[in-house]
Amino acid sequence: MRSPVQDYLDRLVDQIRPVDEGATYQAVPSAAAMDRNLFGLALTTVEGHCYASGDAEHPFSLQSISKAFTYGMALEDLGPDKVHEKIDVEPSGDPFNEISLQAGTGRPDNPMINAGAITTTSLIKGRGGRDRIGRIVNTFSDAAGRDLKVSESVFKAEDKTGHRNRALAWLLRSFGILESDPELSLQDYFRQCSILVTAKDLSMMAATLANQGVNPATGERVFSPQVVRWVLSVMSTCGMYDDAGTWAIEVGLPAKSGVGGGLLVVVPGQMGVGVFSPPLDEHGMSVRGGVAIKQIATDFGLHYGDVP
Ligand code: GLN
Repeated sequence: MRSPVQDYLDRLVDQIRPVDEGATYQAVPSAAAMDRNLFGLALTTVEGHCYASGDAEHPFSLQSISKAFTYGMALEDLGPDKVHEKIDVEPSGDPFNEISLQAGTGRPDNPMINAGAITTTSLIKGRGGRDRIGRIVNTFSDAAGRDLKVSESVFKAEDKTGHRNRALAWLLRSFGILESDPELSLQDYFRQCSILVTAKDLSMMAATLANQGVNPATGERVFSPQVVRWVLSVMSTCGMYDDAGTWAIEVGLPAKSGVGGGLLVVVPGQMGVGVFSPPLDEHGMSVRGGVAIKQIATDFGLHYGDVP
């Protein structure tokens, strides 16, 4: 017998695929050239059951979704107080690449905007080069439950076009927020953005957060429950940048978008959802991804203001 969840996802993919708005990410040639009809949806429960529909096994780059997981790593490595000294936890209401640093100190408002994310990466133990990015890839792989890899071609394009990120990193260095060579942090930041995943992977990574830091398929602990609490809080308030308020009203769930077309959503204690579709709205969020999540949140009453 077919599962009703599978039927629901298949219907949703058929219903939403015709939505054809937005533009693909132009900075990376392989992302810019992606078929704009691609659309995949996956859902993994905290028991480890995975349901997928559409192009849920098509690879794309993680991009800003990586920021939630590197933040978790920095919190594990240094503890919340040390990380908080360097990066605040307040929504900035700015676009992801805004040059917004707090007056006087240069402290980024939160770890979800690029300034905060580059700082986060600089804090992770391993000090640049192979060690730090190796740890990042391993931790992300543990969350996804399979070995992930950096796309060297995406990395090269990010590195070549990332002038604003480079400017941000040097500005952070001038304030002493970055304490070592900005180029090392940038290289690792660009690489973490270039890790290839699928919608299925995103759903498993989200389910790991939904399951208090334990990957529900492998049983491996990736983050402590306290760290997951911090990460989900910051995702809730800052994960969608200058769209965070509208997202809170329309969806009411912690989420993170990436310009590769991925969208990761956590339903704490229940499941993780991953969506992939390349065309993006003006906030850098997948258009079909946003439509799909709003529909799922409504159909299942998942908004934190809904009464079960
Ligand atoms: N690599 C992109 C950047 O740093 C990621 C941005 C995003 O996904 N919002 O600009």
